[in-house]
Amino acid sequence: SYDELKKCTNNFSQSNQIGSGGYGKVYRGVLSTGQVVAIKRAQQGSTQGGLEFKTEIELLSRVHHKNLVGLVGFCFEQGEQMLVYEFMANGTLRESLSGRSGVHLDWKRRLRIALGSARGIAYLHELANPPIIHRDIKSTNILLDDNLTAKVADFGLSKLVSDSSKGHVSTQVKGTLLTEKSDVYSFGVVMLELITAKQPIEKGKYIVREVRIAMNKNDETHYGLRDFMDPVIRNTPNLIGFPRFLELAIQCVEESASDRPTMSEVVKSLETILQNDG
Ligand code: ADP
Repeated sequence: SYDELKKCTNNFSQSNQIGSGGYGKVYRGVLSTGQVVAIKRAQQGSTQGGLEFKTEIELLSRVHHKNLVGLVGFCFEQGEQMLVYEFMANGTLRESLSGRSGVHLDWKRRLRIALGSARGIAYLHELANPPIIHRDIKSTNILLDDNLTAKVADFGLSKLVSDSSKGHVSTQVKGTLLTEKSDVYSFGVVMLELITAKQPIEKGKYIVREVRIAMNKNDETHYGLRDFMDPVIRNTPNLIGFPRFLELAIQCVEESASDRPTMSEVVKSLETILQNDG
């Protein structure tokens, strides 16, 4: 209830605030059950927020997967709109990659994060009924829990796949035709971020271009890409499956959507990379 949420965030105090985003502020709270939660509180008077909140509630109450941030509850009371999520103690993947959160992500951890988030997205594409295109996959929407398990967040933008034109799954946003393959592209950018730790600008356009140029110059092991690599992993003696990981990322950001793998193919490839590590 509103009163419990108010109490467990210490009256929505500044000290309990953990972030702020498109719809309002995010607070940390502890429910009477002891569960730690993140509470998204819509900006008062935001009409846009109301719609997105409802979309998010509708979507999240239908999907359950260990790599998707779970909705614990919601509250529409006294003019307030709040969404209550499981708390992700280690914040966003972007924070970790930027070195701001103090979390050290070694190469193997990065592979696991890629696999976890790929599984979450593949679930949305293939197992959710009807399928869901996330539409906003990026490192600030991939959260890490206390075990550094990756979970995909922020469904406010997601849309159910409209299957009106039988079999053809797509959705229309601002004149752009978005399909599952758009999520695959965005996921490819996240993979390149895991390698480079670079902040993606313009949907990763620059990272993709730099990596392509560097790859054209280099031998097939791609170790010449070292200059682009995140210094944190650059000197790792054995980067398990690095060339395959890089190739997969490059396939995901192919210009033509039909050249990109599906998300479940991405999951399979990442599983193979991790298995071969022994
Ligand atoms: P945006 O709208 O910019 O995507 P959000 O409103 O989703 O941002 O979240 C803002 C910030 O709050 C995030 O960057 C993150 O640091 C934090 N946050 C969001 N959800 C959670 C969560 N479930 N657990 C912990 N922190 C969270």
